[in-house]
Amino acid sequence: AGEVKPEKASKPPADSIVEISSRERVVFPDSGQTKGELADYYTAIAPLMLPFAAERPVSLVRCPQGRAKKCFFQKHDSGGLGDAVHHVPIKEKDGGTEDYLFVRDTTGILQCVQMGTIEFHGWASRSGDVEKPDRMIFDLDPDEGLDFDSVKQAASDIRDRLAELGLTSFAMLSGGKGVHVVVPLRTGHGWDAHKDFARRFAEAMAMAEPERFTATMSKAKRKGKIFIDWLRNQRGSTAVLPYSARARSGAPVAVPIGWGELKDMEDAHPFSISDADRLLKRSRTKALTGWGFADQRLPDL
Ligand code: ATP
Ligand code: MN
Ligand code: MN
Repeated sequence: AGEVKPEKASKPPADSIVEISSRERVVFPDSGQTKGELADYYTAIAPLMLPFAAERPVSLVRCPQGRAKKCFFQKHDSGGLGDAVHHVPIKEKDGGTEDYLFVRDTTGILQCVQMGTIEFHGWASRSGDVEKPDRMIFDLDPDEGLDFDSVKQAASDIRDRLAELGLTSFAMLSGGKGVHVVVPLRTGHGWDAHKDFARRFAEAMAMAEPERFTATMSKAKRKGKIFIDWLRNQRGSTAVLPYSARARSGAPVAVPIGWGELKDMEDAHPFSISDADRLLKRSRTKALTGWGFADQRLPDL
């Protein structure tokens, strides 16, 4: 289970250089990084990103005029992305079928960047078997004004609670305001069981400490609390992928972080696309060894 059938090798492996046009175009006006710098970031970081990004249906946040102008969330091919951006047909709820996008190499990532992509969001399953999710994400969304300490505390409480259920989890700084708690899972169960577990887990946390957590999306019910966004775990939902850049002020990136390191973080966006070297160095530290990998199945809850 979990394997992905490789496409027929009709073309040579596609890890070649992608021509990036308008390298000097400023994509992040407040911090100054250009399209060329964004492409260089992804070129450097692709080996770290691909284990988590490759073969998953992705949604792209494209901002062809830079992040301060109009951006759009793209799930399907509108043409022109390139031959290393592959298609996977996925059944829609209405019975029809739509082609979703996935990449499997650096070239695919860069072809998306060439077309104005800043962010990469991925499904919780792989294109080889989209009906079998292989990771669960609890996306912690703090109410406005809540300090980052509460987010960190929430993340480690969720880690502890998951550990009681026998599940190893990992922390990722979203590059925005929150932390994602990531639970890698062996494939086998379907979306209903996946979503059901995530919902019940989040609801149990909220029930136990209603003054800290909520499991409902409603902003009104979030006052002073953290929304444990379990809705990332339903079929068709996406979450930002590890090492994706964010179309936000300062060109931040989503970064894996060790549980021990989380304590020292002051916010969810300490790294930017200008930090590729530091990120590569960090990835070899003990704190990040094995990040995102655990051979475990979804328990019954
Ligand atoms: P933050 O830490 O600031 O919350 P985030 O990436 O977790 O950053 P959310 O707003 O919580 O941002 O969104 C969670 C996920 O929902 C996103 O990562 C993305 O995959 C998905 N999402 C966000 N906007 C859209 C959209 N317009 N269409 C579809 N999915 C979206
Ligand atoms: Mn979030
Ligand atoms: Mn969310």
